[in-house]
Amino acid sequence: MLSPKFRKLQECLAGLPGIGKKTAGRLAMHIITQDKAKSHDIAESIADAVDSICNCSVCNILSENDPCLVCTDTDRDNRLLCVVENTQDVHLFEEIHSFKGRYFVLGHLLSPMHGIGPDEIKFGLLSKFLEENPVEEMILALSPSVEGETTMSFIAEQLETSSINLSRLSTGLPFGSNLEYANSITIANAFRNRTKV
Ligand SMILES: [Zn+2]
Repeated sequence: MLSPKFRKLQECLAGLPGIGKKTAGRLAMHIITQDKAKSHDIAESIADAVDSICNCSVCNILSENDPCLVCTDTDRDNRLLCVVENTQDVHLFEEIHSFKGRYFVLGHLLSPMHGIGPDEIKFGLLSKFLEENPVEEMILALSPSVEGETTMSFIAEQLETSSINLSRLSTGLPFGSNLEYANSITIANAFRNRTKV
């Protein structure tokens, strides 16, 4: 019979995205049987990250600082705002080194079917950001998917009367794909060739 502690570990791992019950069992076995110091390292870095990382109260980026290092960087151009789904996307854009504006992280893409509405995508915080910063161009750098399109249409509708120029990443990213899986050259091209919404 399986130890209850092993079973609990397996259940916790199975709750992670993309991990099924079998993989969770293999991972749990690995964690238990590998060098104990390595497993303690994993446990400590999880606890440390969970305790010290929060959402920036200005742009919603996950950060150890509030406001985050992007929001407090005075070399950034406050007239340019890149709107992304999550903090990993910020890292993607930072890697291509061609954007020196600010970011706003929605956290989700709109999906009314799954109960994800304007509150979940932090639209109120985004509106506050736009009131407090002289944004001239807002780049909607969202995945080309049904949810991405729904989100872009919603934001474009809400900002219809504002003077902010809206743009979106160019084609080259296949529909239904996730930005996370596109390579940096594709993203850099999509960014450079962005089009007006
Ligand atoms: Zn921030």
